[in-house]
Amino acid sequence: MARIVMKFGGTSMAGMERIRNVAARVKHVVSQGNEVAVVVSAMAGDTDRLVGFCKEASPLYDPAEYDVVVASGEQVTSGLLAMTLKAMGVDARSWLGWQLPIRTVEAHAKARVSDIDTIDLLASMRAGKVAVIPGFQGMMADGRVSTLGRGGSDTSAVAVAAAIKADRCDIYTDVDGVYTTDPRIVARARKLDLVTYEEMLELASVGAKVLQTRSVGLAMKEGVVVQVLSSFDDPAQTDLPGTLIVSEEELEAKLKEDKMERQLITGIAHDKNEAKIIVTRVPDKPGAVASIFGPLADAAINVDMIIQNDSKEKEETDVTFTVPRADLARSVDLLEAHKDTIGFRRIITDVEVAKISVVGVGMRSHAGVAATMFKTLADRGINIEAISTSEIKVSVLIDEDETELAVRVLHTAYGLDAPAA
Ligand code: ADP
Ligand code: ASP
Ligand code: MG
Repeated sequence: MARIVMKFGGTSMAGMERIRNVAARVKHVVSQGNEVAVVVSAMAGDTDRLVGFCKEASPLYDPAEYDVVVASGEQVTSGLLAMTLKAMGVDARSWLGWQLPIRTVEAHAKARVSDIDTIDLLASMRAGKVAVIPGFQGMMADGRVSTLGRGGSDTSAVAVAAAIKADRCDIYTDVDGVYTTDPRIVARARKLDLVTYEEMLELASVGAKVLQTRSVGLAMKEGVVVQVLSSFDDPAQTDLPGTLIVSEEELEAKLKEDKMERQLITGIAHDKNEAKIIVTRVPDKPGAVASIFGPLADAAINVDMIIQNDSKEKEETDVTFTVPRADLARSVDLLEAHKDTIGFRRIITDVEVAKISVVGVGMRSHAGVAATMFKTLADRGINIEAISTSEIKVSVLIDEDETELAVRVLHTAYGLDAPAA
């Protein structure tokens, strides 16, 4: 017997027929003698609809009230799944975020899980009841509902798996694993049997939304065994053909066993959720940049790519950077409020940008990855608006309309295309 967390995403929970499929899959795993906790997302599209209502209510909505609204999608699906399981003869109950509770800290709308009470949960699971937990939601210290940021049900699942010391955390989604890039963009993307925590963390953080970034960080820290699987494959299949997230050592051992070389690049991701801000004609003096980013940091807004174009003659500089699109209105508002301290001329914004990133541990020991990227994009006439790098990643900001083309040509340039069928 194993203790397993099964997480089902929005597409898998979209409508009663799919919920019945999920229940059948859970029943199958329970019938093999396992103790199961299920973490569910809202039905696909529901969270977007709820976010839309919040924006309509007020462009600068209160994040605590936003959480009250958007957490409701998962409440619906958890109740429906528990009901469906019971109707199939599987004992189950739902546990809302505030009932367990799943305690969270930091900011509303992007809260972090701090701890989970598991005494009642485990007692109920031991008594043979499947626990159905709505993903994405938690509770702040003051008792208010919180949510974990978009895609946060993955993190709920990993946090629950760590808290109940589950043997496995299986993430069921609408693709059958982690690919070299989004298989919906590149038909010749290849499925990865294994990917390391570190590379998955980097891929997720630059837009591979198959797993929420925090879920990977948490799994790495807590040693949770995570597997990404399709919820549409046959549940009776025992050798599940998904992607397993492994440590660096486990990957090296497997490569050695199979006498395979490590690929230079593991994957390519794109992110259309950033917006570019240019703050023009800022005085070129110590403290100027700090006066821009200080207020944004205080408001928990994550600034990503940054470029400063200084013009020595005028002793002024333009500062360009990206923020999450969802935080654009708030960022501009904050900068305007600090206009006197910063001393800029104008704020220019652009939401029609996309960030394209190539990720691979192999680039630690190989030069030329960035050069290949720049040349490949230049050959297609794609202009680069900003660049950022880390030890295992190179990212560029381009025009949003060129996203698909850029991902496709880079996938080919780094030799990632699957052989033609
Ligand atoms: P869920 O609702 O199950 O959480 P998501 O939509 O959040 O599903 O994530 C699954 C989607 O992630 C896939 O449908 C796919 O389009 C996208 N995706 C992006 N990058 C990758 C990748 N490298 N491998 C697999 N899927 C990816
Ligand atoms: N329903 C939430 C979202 O769409 C959380 C999730 O699905 O992971 O972001
Ligand atoms: Mg998701």
